[in-house]
Amino acid sequence: MQRTADAVLVGAGVMGASVAFHLARAGVRQVLVLEKTGIAAGGTGKSAAFIRMHYTNEPEARMAIASFPTYQHWADAVGGDCGFTRTGFVMTVQPEDADALRRNVAMLQRLGAKTELLTAAELKAAVPALATEDLLLAAYEPESGYADPVATTRAFLDRAQALGARLEVGAEVLALRVGAGRIAGVETTRGPVDAPTVILLTGPWTPRLLRTAGADLAITPHRAQIAAFARPPALAAGHPTFIDGAVGSYFRPTRDQLTLVGVGLWDGKGSADPDAYDRANDPEFLPFARRKLARRLPVMDNAPYVRGHAGIYDMSPDTRAILDEVPGVRGLFVAAGFSGTGFKKAPAVGACLSELILEGRARTVDLRPFRWSRYAENDPIRGQYEYRLPADFGHKI
Ligand SMILES: Cc1cc2nc3c(=O)[nH]c(=O)nc-3n(C[C@H](O)[C@H](O)[C@H](O)COP(=O)(O)OP(=O)(O)OC[C@H]3O[C@@H](n4cnc5c(N)ncnc54)[C@H](O)[C@@H]3O)c2cc1C
Repeated sequence: MQRTADAVLVGAGVMGASVAFHLARAGVRQVLVLEKTGIAAGGTGKSAAFIRMHYTNEPEARMAIASFPTYQHWADAVGGDCGFTRTGFVMTVQPEDADALRRNVAMLQRLGAKTELLTAAELKAAVPALATEDLLLAAYEPESGYADPVATTRAFLDRAQALGARLEVGAEVLALRVGAGRIAGVETTRGPVDAPTVILLTGPWTPRLLRTAGADLAITPHRAQIAAFARPPALAAGHPTFIDGAVGSYFRPTRDQLTLVGVGLWDGKGSADPDAYDRANDPEFLPFARRKLARRLPVMDNAPYVRGHAGIYDMSPDTRAILDEVPGVRGLFVAAGFSGTGFKKAPAVGACLSELILEGRARTVDLRPFRWSRYAENDPIRGQYEYRLPADFGHKI
């Protein structure tokens, strides 16, 4: 028998889970989530899961700010537990960018973010273990921190399923079915499904599926690593979550006395094919990451490596997501290209996609800056005051 759904969502990472939750909550009856491997099996399960609002561009800042209350008040907003842990968040920049930092903090405050400036001396007084000689100013978000990406995804999906959504794990979408300029459904390893709305929430796998509908999106996979080192007793009380833009790393504490450190686009060897990449850390990554960490936290200089992994970023040309209906294919939507910084925005992305699909326009955050056509229009998303980040960090903020 031919199967049908009101909306087929491809991918059960944090984005698929959030869109499923928002559509089901808005009253869509037959929401079907198809996942080929497992819940949070893609970038989501590998995420460092920072929850911060600091961005240099307004569209992404708005997404992060709109998402923040959901993480803070998860039990009421969604139900269950997302593992949100408040640690405070620090963003450092090189001294030459102190003025850019000042302007960006003012922009973020205007948009409603709880953030402030700290001098290097104030930062040192708050966390004495930090080396701050190379800094002038830092931005501080007292309420930010990190969450558990797998728990977050499960909680969204649990609630979506309680509201009537269906989840099929082990169901791979092989192709999109298009007719007369609109989506008709999907072909899957379990047979076809008819649907007037299909949403691709497939991270680095997105271009492959889009090609089956004759559409082309320049998202490229990039392998990125994070590693966790044991904290010495001097840091037993933990430390804030950090993007150390001055040195070019990011790090945060874990609940089990480790510090997790990542270095954006550090170029390891090996394949970035999301179906065939080395999930383990490259041995050379470990001393590199630890050196970066110890420049800010010298007591971590000899910290033992405990665990780590690699994951795949879905890099877009301007390192910002594409959130739109696919031009020329009515009813086909895409949310991809998060370029290693999507997790924190998942609540607002889900709300916006649900509004776009059901009402024709997003209310939570204006999606126009994230439109598909912006590359052809030479109108990428960028901040007015971007930072000079070390080349081996790779990220834009
Ligand atoms: C190492 C690392 C650290 C990160 N740190 C942070 C951070 O600190 N803060 C932050 O905000 N973001 C961070 N990110 C980014 C963030 O994790 C991602 O942007 C986000 O999780 C992407 O979620 P997603 O649902 O779009 O994609 P994914 O989690 O990749 O999910 C896509 C899903 O689609 C499924 N799928 C693909 N093709 C098909 C198909 N044909 N049929 C069925 N299913 C299919 C896959 O199996 C997968 O489960 C990090 C990412 C990595 C890799």
